[in-house]
Amino acid sequence: MENGFKDELTERLMRYTAIDSQSDELSNKSPSTDQQLDMLNLLKEELLALGVEDVKLTDYGVVLATVPGNISAPAVGFLAHVDTAPQFNASGVKPRLIKGYNGGDITFPDDPELTLSPNEFEYLKEKKGDDIITASGTTLLGADDKAGVSIIMTAINHLLQSSELNHGPIRVAFTPDEEIGRGVKKQLVTDLGVDTAYTFDGGKIGDLEYETFSADKAEVKIKGVSIHPGLAKDKLVNAIHIAAKLISTLPQTTLTPETTEDNEGFIHATDMVGGSSEMTLRFILRDFELAGLKEKGDLLKQVCEVINSSEPRLLTELGIPTPNLFTGMQNIHGPLEWISAQDMEKATHLCLEIIKEFSKEN
Ligand SMILES: [Zn+2]
Repeated sequence: MENGFKDELTERLMRYTAIDSQSDELSNKSPSTDQQLDMLNLLKEELLALGVEDVKLTDYGVVLATVPGNISAPAVGFLAHVDTAPQFNASGVKPRLIKGYNGGDITFPDDPELTLSPNEFEYLKEKKGDDIITASGTTLLGADDKAGVSIIMTAINHLLQSSELNHGPIRVAFTPDEEIGRGVKKQLVTDLGVDTAYTFDGGKIGDLEYETFSADKAEVKIKGVSIHPGLAKDKLVNAIHIAAKLISTLPQTTLTPETTEDNEGFIHATDMVGGSSEMTLRFILRDFELAGLKEKGDLLKQVCEVINSSEPRLLTELGIPTPNLFTGMQNIHGPLEWISAQDMEKATHLCLEIIKEFSKEN
């Protein structure tokens, strides 16, 4: 079927969201809840059935797999998380498909009081005619991040079915406990074994930042550990404080645009956004020599590593960005969560485009 990802994506998303895999910030276990293992084991079985290689569930609760390359090209990784947010009821999700959305208010079978209205949510207005998936009114949907999981699984399935697409090795990681800030263990970076990886865990189309493809920009994402402030002692890690530490550790009297001239290179902090649970910092790295550019990137990475090691509970995605790509998910972590199947389809095409881009490098 030409471009026929929509049905597979819908089928996968509805099947995956019906499985309870909520994480729990009060648990000391890893993964924090046993339900997440149901989801992880299912994905492991499905990957094995697709015929990919090196499928395993690690002792830290991550499903890893490799789609072997059929040409020599750099490996690229794709990540998504299997847990759903602890902020709202996520047990017994009953996903519901609205085919060819008519553009009006959406009501919910299990809560007559609840309305998802395009007057309130601008993006929904743009999705008239799309297939919309929501929960039934009493739970969140969990498109965050089962949309990401569905997109990656569908892209892999397509790659394995379609022999004409040349590509290098593709590594996949499905992680637990992202919603409570414990998903990415240091060991994962080693086990994934790629220089570049992309996460499908973003919202609307356009959330993709194309500039992260270029070598002279860097993005540092700092994930705090969010715990209810009343229970936070020795557990909470505030991403705002870590961001402040990172900025103050970077050179300020040298290597900045305001302290350099001519063809001296620099690291320029361009923006910092976020909150206590997550901060994103972006930088422009400049140098006239490629080696110099790499040095700037390495310096930034070293600073991140120093801060990371001074904060053992902190899980930081370092230096080389794992850009967060859109999935289409909207109104996450609550009963009005929804997603368009057509948006997920565009994300699947994006995944395949990235794979094609990597196949051009050698
Ligand atoms: Zn997410």
